[in-house]
Amino acid sequence: MFIDSHSHLFDIKNTNIDFTGIDACIVLSYDVSNFDSALSFCNKHSKCFCGLGVYPEFANSFNAETEQFIIKHAKDIVAIGEIGLDSAFGNYETQINAFSQQISLASKLGLPISVHLRTKQDYEQFFNLIVGFSQKSILHAFHGDKDDCVRALDLGCYISFAGNITYKRNQFLRDLVKYIPDDRLLIETDSPSILPAQFQRHGENQPANIHYTAEVIAVLKNKTVEQIAEITRQNAINIFKLKV
Ligand SMILES: [Zn+2]
Repeated sequence: MFIDSHSHLFDIKNTNIDFTGIDACIVLSYDVSNFDSALSFCNKHSKCFCGLGVYPEFANSFNAETEQFIIKHAKDIVAIGEIGLDSAFGNYETQINAFSQQISLASKLGLPISVHLRTKQDYEQFFNLIVGFSQKSILHAFHGDKDDCVRALDLGCYISFAGNITYKRNQFLRDLVKYIPDDRLLIETDSPSILPAQFQRHGENQPANIHYTAEVIAVLKNKTVEQIAEITRQNAINIFKLKV
C-alpha cells in the first residue's frame, strides 16, 4: 500500500523490521562508510531500493573516489541521497562543495536527489544551487516555512513529510499540507529516526509506522488514508522509476 520514500533501514538494531502495509522502501546511505551496508541491505530485501550519497555532517568524506563508486553502482540505485546542507554543522563550505558535486552527479546519472535541509540559510543556499538543474529534488522530512515551501514547489521540488508532522509543536507543518499539490506529495519514516509522537521518543522507528503520518495528512487533505497511500505511492513510483 505505502511507499516509504526515505529511510536508513540498515541502521535498525531490531532484526524484525515491520513492513506491514509497505509496498516499497527507499533506503539511503549518509556516509561513504555505509555505502556497502545500504547496498547489501537492499540486495537482501526485495521491497527495498537503494540510494547513495553523503550527508552534510560527513561532507569531508566526499571525493573523486566516492563519485566513482556511485557511478559504478548507478544501475543498483534509484536516488542520490541523503545529501544536503545543515548549518548546524561547522563545515559549511565543504558541505556546499560536496552537495553541488552530488547534484551534478545526480543530474548526469538521471537520478532524483533526497535532500536534507535544516535552517533558513540551508533553504536559501539550496534554492541558489538547484537553479539550472532538471533532476527531481525531494525535500525530505520537510521542516521549512511557507515561503520555503512555495519556492520549492515553484522550482519543481517534491515535499516529503515524516513523523514530525504528528508533533504537537509542529502546527506550522500541518498548516502547509493544504499548499502541496497531490502530485508533489510524498511520505516517509526516516527509520530508525523521527518516531511519531505516539511513541514519545521510545525505541526505533519502523516502516510500518508510516500510517501515523498518513493519518494526519489524510485529515488535512480531506481524504482517506488509502487515498494518501495511493497518491504518494504513485508519486514515488514515478520519481524513483520503481518496478513494484
Ligand atoms: Zn534521513
